[in-house]
Amino acid sequence: MSAYENAKTMSREEIMEKIAALGIQEAGLCGGSLAGRLAASLAEAEEEKKETGIVAALNNADTDYALLEVLKNDPEKVLQGIAIAAMAIGTERKTLHVPESETELADSLAQLAANYQVEVAAGLVNLRANKGKAIIHIVTAADLADAFGGEYVPGVYVSVNGRPVKKVPNGTKVADLLSEEERAEARALILGYRMCKADAAALPVEEAGIANGVVKVLTSHHCVVVETEKQLMASRKQSCGKCVFCREGLIQLQYMQKEITQGRGKADFADLTKEIGEAMCFSTPCTLGQNSAKIALTAMENFPAEYEAHIKKKKCPSAVCAKLVNIYIDPKHCNGCGACETVCPYDCIEGQPGYIHMLDDFDCTKCGKCTEVCETGAIVITTGRVPRVPYRLTKVGRFR
Ligand code: SF4
Ligand code: SF4
Ligand code: SF4
Repeated sequence: MSAYENAKTMSREEIMEKIAALGIQEAGLCGGSLAGRLAASLAEAEEEKKETGIVAALNNADTDYALLEVLKNDPEKVLQGIAIAAMAIGTERKTLHVPESETELADSLAQLAANYQVEVAAGLVNLRANKGKAIIHIVTAADLADAFGGEYVPGVYVSVNGRPVKKVPNGTKVADLLSEEERAEARALILGYRMCKADAAALPVEEAGIANGVVKVLTSHHCVVVETEKQLMASRKQSCGKCVFCREGLIQLQYMQKEITQGRGKADFADLTKEIGEAMCFSTPCTLGQNSAKIALTAMENFPAEYEAHIKKKKCPSAVCAKLVNIYIDPKHCNGCGACETVCPYDCIEGQPGYIHMLDDFDCTKCGKCTEVCETGAIVITTGRVPRVPYRLTKVGRFR
């Protein structure tokens, strides 16, 4: 029997008792007991004089959609979980939200969803419009189906560095999910919505705050500020813009990180980030506004040296920020092959066959295309000084 059929043999009270007895927790950012959440929705519906219902979705704050894979991999499981949650609170109103950009997914789910009388909607969940309903995570619905199918194991769904999402049991350390190379090279970790020090890998998954399923390992080739700016930009794109704190706060936070990567960071950016970020956490109604500033707050708190290098010394320690690094061709290693000159999209490299090539970094974007084709490793990107290099055509081996 399927999980749904199992649940259909039970009374509403028995379903609720089973959910409470198994201790199923709400997945994602909200956490807490699912039984408590379902009961609270009934109480709210009564108080607000609204009809209750079940709404399953990702958290609004989820911009990576890693946990959408749980739905894509087994849509029937999620739909059964939604139907079981609805049975627990005695409602026929069931909605599954997918991100606005996932129209193909929404279309492909329509027929299957109709079998469980679940309506499929696209876009962020409007909390106000759904007062009185139990909003549960897609992953919680999958857990519910597992529970009533007899396969429930408390755990966390995780995707490491974009690899396929998988459920790992509670108690598993984050480090156990990384390859040997990733463990050795990790300089920072993005765990959910936070920028963490590499030693956070010692945490068990259920305590690591991986609410969106995302673990990203940053090595010496990643710039913490650039990664923070990227995450803020993703949140900016996702924000519906209705709340001033979320809309304006994200613009300001992302702007400051961008300025820092461009060598225009100011000393008061740290204080401003803290002030705006904390205000966003407390003054916004949905998970996006409440969590999107955390990446900037934690990055500045956990990596102060990185920010000091960018803002005060105008250096990017990872040599990623184009405006804060230098590039040159080492005359001792250039063999005059000309490969770099051919690939440079901005004509920054000059030379002739058999001559040491010269790089004018005025228009150079530090795109790295030339370094990829240079077989002798003569092209150097550095945060340090540029040594003496030829300023006119010089035959290979003749530069002194
Ligand atoms: S916090 Fe406000 S503006 Fe931001 S996504 Fe949520 S509802 Fe929209
Ligand atoms: S690709 Fe490298 S070796 Fe060849 S000309 Fe350019 S810098 Fe010199
Ligand atoms: S880094 Fe890119 S833009 Fe700069 S010289 Fe090399 S190929 Fe040209």
